[in-house]
Amino acid sequence: MPDPRYLPRTALSTLLTVLMQAGYRCIGPQIRDGAIVYDTLHTVQDLPHGVHDHQAPGSYRIETSEHARSFAWANGPQALKPVLFAPQDTLWHVERTVQGALRFVEMVSAAEALAVIGVRACDLAALRLHDQHFLAGAHPDAAYRARRAALLLVAVHCTHPADTCFCASTGDGPRATHSFDLALSELDDGFLVEVGSDAGQRIAACLPLEHASGDRQRAADAEIEQATCLQARRLPSRNLHAALFANLDHPRWQETAERCLSCGNCTSVCPTCFCYREQDEAALDGQSSVHTRAWDSCFTLGHSYIHGLTVHAGTRERYRQWLTHKLGSWHEQYGRSGCVGCGRCISWCPVGIDITQEVAVICGDMAHD
Ligand code: SF4
Ligand code: SF4
Repeated sequence: MPDPRYLPRTALSTLLTVLMQAGYRCIGPQIRDGAIVYDTLHTVQDLPHGVHDHQAPGSYRIETSEHARSFAWANGPQALKPVLFAPQDTLWHVERTVQGALRFVEMVSAAEALAVIGVRACDLAALRLHDQHFLAGAHPDAAYRARRAALLLVAVHCTHPADTCFCASTGDGPRATHSFDLALSELDDGFLVEVGSDAGQRIAACLPLEHASGDRQRAADAEIEQATCLQARRLPSRNLHAALFANLDHPRWQETAERCLSCGNCTSVCPTCFCYREQDEAALDGQSSVHTRAWDSCFTLGHSYIHGLTVHAGTRERYRQWLTHKLGSWHEQYGRSGCVGCGRCISWCPVGIDITQEVAVICGDMAHD
């Protein structure tokens, strides 16, 4: 990868202009309803300037101050998941022909070219897992593949982790190291710009980039290093498969179930969770129907319903299923844990259940790296 170049803060709007001229709709972080969310970015003024986020178990709060930065916060409730794996998709439409036969029509609409600005290292790690899930194998997901091919990613290395972040312990952050087209390091007066792909190079070639001094590169590296040191939470091991499955009867599962509301917030905000349900919606005249896919959660009653039986009928079983799959059996399926350390499930859990604490109690001394 070539050495980073420097983009003055005053030229950040040029990045947006170049992306738009290249045909991308830009999506970026902005404040809505008291949180940082991704939405269409019309101008750099839409970015969350002078904002920090404060996160704790069951708590998310943003605070504005006079500082000049646009990315001095950790994350909001969304990652890239809704951009690629839509909350609801129509997969096919079926209709009856005049001869009475059924005609199936696959519904994959053309994907819009999107450039997402402000992507975090944990989001890229989750993206790589979703690429593995939706694209590898004999039957790649058509809707995901079309959206993925039309995506350009501008990452920003994390320098202000929240108290809930633990990406350093999962090995997924705070520095973005893969899957980006461009990556920015934010400094007070501008940005270091790294190129990660040919598409990123084409955009970078149109920017007024300057030589990046050694002082600026050292300052940017020091901020990312500091972000690693600031993370107090951690998972005790990157592979908890044996420790979790050896503790399926630990009393903590029941204690946590008495707090857990089975609301599924944790799975909605988790950037790697990909469960969905499918259903058919028939037209009233019985001549056609559409087949849809919508996000689901292992905390719903229907998720484990098979042949007249709900396998995970109680909250204890559902929470245990979530944790043992996410941190245990994902290793068998994907060669790594399903947790990228973003901390979202901790902040957005209404009763503040903390995955790192649960693991520490349930796995105890069995969890080692
Ligand atoms: S399990 Fe929690 S911390 Fe881990 S990736 Fe999902 S939301 Fe983030
Ligand atoms: S752990 Fe928290 S967010 Fe997840 S289902 Fe239980 S109460 Fe809801």
